[in-house]
Amino acid sequence: MDKYYFSYQTIHNTIKETAQEIIASGFEPDLILAIGGGGFIPARILRTFIKKPIVTIAISYYDANDQLQEKPVKHQWLSQNDIAGKKVLLVDEVDDTRLTLEYCLNELLQQHPTEIAVFVLHKKLKEKRGHIPASIKRFYVGETIEDKWVCYPWDATDINEHEKRAKQKA
Ligand code: 5GP
Repeated sequence: MDKYYFSYQTIHNTIKETAQEIIASGFEPDLILAIGGGGFIPARILRTFIKKPIVTIAISYYDANDQLQEKPVKHQWLSQNDIAGKKVLLVDEVDDTRLTLEYCLNELLQQHPTEIAVFVLHKKLKEKRGHIPASIKRFYVGETIEDKWVCYPWDATDINEHEKRAKQKA
C-alpha cells in the first residue's frame, strides 16, 4: 500500500490555514481537547493560532501491532463536568474509520458541553464505520486525502529520512 509522508512544515501550514477558517467561522472554543497520542502535536500547533488551554484524553482502538480492537482502551479521560457548559474544539490527527471520533463524541456529549466542534488534520475519503452525532455541527478538516496509510513525522525513528520522503512526494 502506498503511503503518505507529511513534513512538519506542511502540517504546520495546513493547521494554520484551518485555524484561520475556524476563526472566520465564528467558533471560539473555551478549550482545545486533544485526543492522544495523535492529536497532541496538532493541538499544540493549533494553539499557536487559537490561544486556548489544551486538555487531553487518550484512548486507543489499535493494539501494538496496529490491529483494530473491538472496544477502545481509555488510557486517560476527563473528570466529571470538566467540559459541562463549555465550547470544545476536539482535535485528532486523522479521521480514518471514524470509530474514535464517534466513541469520544458520544462519551463527551454526556457531560453536556455547550458545543463540541471537531478538527482533524487529515480526513480519509472512504466509507466510515463510525458516525458523527447529529448535534455536532462543525467539522473542520485540514486536508482530505485518499485512503492510504499516513506516516507522521512524530512517529519517525529517522526524521531526516521521513522529511526526505515527504519532500519527494510533495
Ligand atoms: P479511526 O478511529 O478514525 O479509524 O482512527 C483514528 C486513529 O487511528 C488515529 O487517531 C490514529 O491514531 C490511527 N490511524 C488511523 N489511520 C492512520 C494512519 O493512516 N496513520 C497513522 N499514523 N495513524 C492512523
